This record gives sequence, structure tokens and C-alpha cells, in this order.
Amino acid sequence: MSGSARETIEYDVVIAGAGPAGLSAAVRLKQLDSSLDVVVLEKGSEVGAHILSGAVLDPSGLEALIPDWKEKGAPLNVPVTSDKFYMLGEVGQIRVPGFPMPPLMNNHGNYIVSMANVCRWMAEQAEELGVEVFPGMACSELVYDENGGVKGVVAGEFGKEADGTPGPAYEPGMELHGKYVFLSEGVRGSLAKEVIAKYDLSKGKEPQKFGIGMKEIWEIDPDKHNEGEVTHTMGWPLGGNAGGGSFIYHLENNQVYVGFVVHLNYKNPHLFPYMEFQRFKHHPMVAELLEGGKRVAYGARAISEGGYQSMPKMVAPGVALLGCSVGMVNVPRIKGNHNAMLSGKAAAEAAFDAIKVERSGDELTAYEDDVRGGAIGKDLKKVRNVKPMWSKWGMLPSLALGGLDMWTNTLGFSLFGTMKHGKTDAAATEEASKHKVIDYPKPDGKLSFDRLTNVSFAMTNHEESQPSHLQLGDDKLPISVNLPKYGEPAQRYCPAGVYEVVEEDGSDPRFVINFQNCVHCKTCDIKDPSQNINWVTPQGGDGPNYPNM
Ligand SMILES: Cc1cc2nc3c(=O)[nH]c(=O)nc-3n(C[C@H](O)[C@H](O)[C@H](O)COP(=O)(O)OP(=O)(O)OC[C@H]3O[C@@H](n4cnc5c(N)ncnc54)[C@H](O)[C@@H]3O)c2cc1C
Repeated sequence: MSGSARETIEYDVVIAGAGPAGLSAAVRLKQLDSSLDVVVLEKGSEVGAHILSGAVLDPSGLEALIPDWKEKGAPLNVPVTSDKFYMLGEVGQIRVPGFPMPPLMNNHGNYIVSMANVCRWMAEQAEELGVEVFPGMACSELVYDENGGVKGVVAGEFGKEADGTPGPAYEPGMELHGKYVFLSEGVRGSLAKEVIAKYDLSKGKEPQKFGIGMKEIWEIDPDKHNEGEVTHTMGWPLGGNAGGGSFIYHLENNQVYVGFVVHLNYKNPHLFPYMEFQRFKHHPMVAELLEGGKRVAYGARAISEGGYQSMPKMVAPGVALLGCSVGMVNVPRIKGNHNAMLSGKAAAEAAFDAIKVERSGDELTAYEDDVRGGAIGKDLKKVRNVKPMWSKWGMLPSLALGGLDMWTNTLGFSLFGTMKHGKTDAAATEEASKHKVIDYPKPDGKLSFDRLTNVSFAMTNHEESQPSHLQLGDDKLPISVNLPKYGEPAQRYCPAGVYEVVEEDGSDPRFVINFQNCVHCKTCDIKDPSQNINWVTPQGGDGPNYPNM
């Protein structure tokens, strides 16, 4: 579709993605100058529909942005009241005391929240300030100016046929141009990926690292519910097969977030992260909590884990990357929302200063300086060695040495310098023949569920007639290379059962992509060992519909 067929609308700042980063940028811009024209575009059917965090929220980002958030009714209703950490074995657990941990690991003063609801509230704040917030509008393309800088996005293209040609109800969408474009698409943003590649923004940085986080909401027996309780575990069932662990957060209304993160640098392609999560719920400590309750929602999303040394350059002409499109999660704290908010605020301040002096379309270097030298950089620098230590030495040594390193970093130095991550998560995958097949127990339908049943609790939906948003560079490669070499791990790493290898009697195996099931976690784009899968955004409004994730 040529740009000329599309209507063009001019803004001061165009923001792709209504997560905590994008919404914070929008709020801050209008706080600074109510006459600025600011638009936020969100691919979910409503703001919050695609938001999946734990979440224990460190309110420092919100405090900085909206200091009177309490008076304004922000949905931070459940302060953390207790914080437990266990090492699990198959049938028992050891509670690890909190005192050896540096203060940064303490959850005192934090809140258990639904980030989907926090984002809904932030969108209301933005709209009250005059921001245009458009859900159901996927930003599908970047628009470049004649010098190769980013000048806008294409959003709202609907009605393509499966082969990519316009269907009977085709809508070409609009070009939204801005003096600056902010990409706040979260982890592995599809437009951010294009910008990082085009401007080589990762040059000289460590590769970005990721985990896959899966989460269920349970309604449990009120007698077992302990509002404000936060529990983290490590150990069983992953053991030495992969890094990761679980979280169990007791929010309001007898609900509990039960989540599980598997680091995506695992080597064994037989590993099945979703089944590890299901198995985890059968641990006696967890089963006792959940028995008699019911799972009411399910979702999954990648989480960025590379931290300080993996943050790419975050500005290029006309464009800035925000929040987890850069990767701002503090891994040992499993927290990125506060940094996402702070990055939105910092980007807004840099754009405001630039627009005030009639700049546009250039690099907002003040934003990058703020991120690296300010609160975000400080937060991430202290914990920068925890993830590489875990990858290199495994869980127990990294707990001890990582704890020591966080302590010394709190005092201003590190004995380890800045450790490297080395390989990408895709490159970490080893050949199937080098590893044992893992035998997973069948889900019992009470505590554990098969993938497709659980996906129905993500309420995900994609218009079937559109082209698949999961694009293969070479459509033969899954069967010709990935299957013999890696047992085609897409069948297992996808938490939504999108990918299947179908082997019918007498015929050659076929690779099938059920894109309708996709929950937009982006794991395939990250973990495919051949890097043959490209996740592009489907039409707006499609995807999961999370209630209060
Ligand atoms: C399982 C899990 C548990 C976590 N637990 C915690 C926790 O307890 N505490 C914490 O602080 N952090 C936690 N995090 C990390 C936290 O979720 C991220 O740091 C945070 O979401 C980053 O915010 P963001 O605004 O950058 O991106 P996101 O929150 O991912 O928001 C991005 C938004 O952009 C939209 N979007 C993406 N692409 C497009 C496009 N092309 N067009 C239009 N819209 C688009 C998405 O639909 C989404 O709404 C967790 C993450 C996971 C996966």
C-alpha cells in the first residue's frame, strides 16, 4: 500500500504502545505543555488487554510522574505485607531468610497490583490531560522521511486477505506523523526490532536476554488467602535444566497470581516451559494453596533479562525506544514497571525541551543520558551481574555470589566488573541429540491444564482471514533443519500451542502455525534457534483479552 492512499495526521509526539512506558510519556508531555498534540496507539482491544505483569509494583516511577496518585484513585490497593522466598525440592521446601539479601530486594513499600488495571487508570489520566488514546490500533509499519529518519507510523490497517491483498472490507489505516515517535511496545517490539536493526543500535552492547513468563489468576479458598503476601521460589521443577522460578502474589478478592518464569537461554530443546509451570503447581506447598480453588485466567509474555549491559542505544533520528523495548527489568527483583514509567517520563522531558526550541526528527540524546546516568541506570547497574552469573555458574553459586555482588554494588563497587552474557537465547539452544527427552506428567485438569484449555482462558482471538502475523523467512526450514536438529522446539517453547509438527500416516511431516492462538508473548521470535520466525503485529484489536492481569 502506498503512503499516498492513506490519510495523514500530524502530531507533536506519536506513541506506539499503551503500557506503563508509553502512557507515562503521554502524561508527562501534557503535564509539561497542555498544547502539545500527543497520540497513543494500542494494539489491544482496550488499554490493558495485552498487559501481563506479576505484578509487584515499586511505586517510585508513579510517584515521580503523578505524586498525588493516591488522591487520584490509582488502583494500588494491596501493600505487600509479607515476603517469602523458598528453595523447592520435589517434595519439600527450605525458606531462605531475607537478611542476607541487600535492601534493594526488599518488597516493603511495594504494592501487589493488576498492571492491566493500572494502565487503564493511567490512560484515563492521560485522556483527562487531553492525550488521544486509541486502542484497537496496531502500529504495523514505520514511516521514514527522505533522510532515513523515522517520521511516523502506519496504524489501523484492517481487512487484508490471507495472501496479503486487500479484502472487501479493506481499510488502509492512517499515517500518524510526529516530530518524535516513541516506541513503547514492550519486550521484543516488532517496530523496535526494525529500528534496532536499521540503525545498528545494539552495536557494542551485549545481546538482549529473555525469559518466558506464564501466569494464571486463581480464586482460592478464603481461609488460605493472605492479602499482601508475596512468595518467590527457585529450584524444583527446573533444577539444572534451566534458570527461572515462580511467583505467588495474593491480591484482592481471594485472588492469587501464580506465575512461572523460565530463562530462555536453556540448552535442551526438549524442555517444555509450559509443562514445567504446570508441574510446579503440583509441588505440595503450591498444591495445598490451590486445592479447592479455580483458575480464572491465563496468559504469557516474554520478559527482558539482559539488563544494564544489554540496553541498546535507545535513540535514532526521530525515534526513541522506551521501557522494555529497550529492556529495563531489574532481574533479581523481577521488576520493570517502575523503570518503564521513569523512561516514559524521561523521554517526554527530552522531547518537550527539543520541541520548545523547534527541533524535530533528530536524536533525543538527553533521553538516553537520563536513562543511563539517572535512576534507571543506577537501579540496573547494581544487579548487572546476577543474570550472567546464573547463566555461567548455575543457581546456587549465583545466589551466593550474586548476593555478594549486589551488596558490594550497593556500596559502590563490584569484584566482578561487568560480566558478559555471551550468546543470544536462540544460539544457546543445543542439538536435541545431545540431550535427554523430558517426561512430563499429564495435566490432571484440576491443578494443571493442557495448553489449549488454558489458552481459552486468555480469551485470545484473531480474525482468521488475515495473513499470519508469524512469518517464516524460509517456510521449509522448520522441517528441513529445526526438526532433525532440534526436534522443532517451537512445539514446546510456545506457551499457546501455536506451532505443531503434524505427521499423518504415510505423508511427510508438516509444520502448522495456528496463529489464532497466539497470546503475543514473542517467545518464538526470540527462541527459534534458526531465527526464522518474525513476529509482526496482527490487525488491531486481535490477541488476548486479559481482565485484571
Ligand atoms: C511474567 C512477568 C512478570 C513480571 N512481573 C513484574 C513485577 O512483578 N513487577 C514489575 O515491575 N515488573 C514485572 N514484569 C516486567 C514488566 O511487565 C515490564 O517491565 C513492563 O511491562 C514494561 O512496560 P512497557 O510499557 O515497556 O511494555 P508493556 O507493558 O509490554 O506494554 C507494551 C504495550 O504496547 C502494546 N504494543 C506493542 N506493540 C505494539 C504495536 N506495534 N502497536 C500498538 N501497540 C503495541 C502492547 O499491546 C502493550 O499494551 C513482569 C513481566 C512478566 C512477563
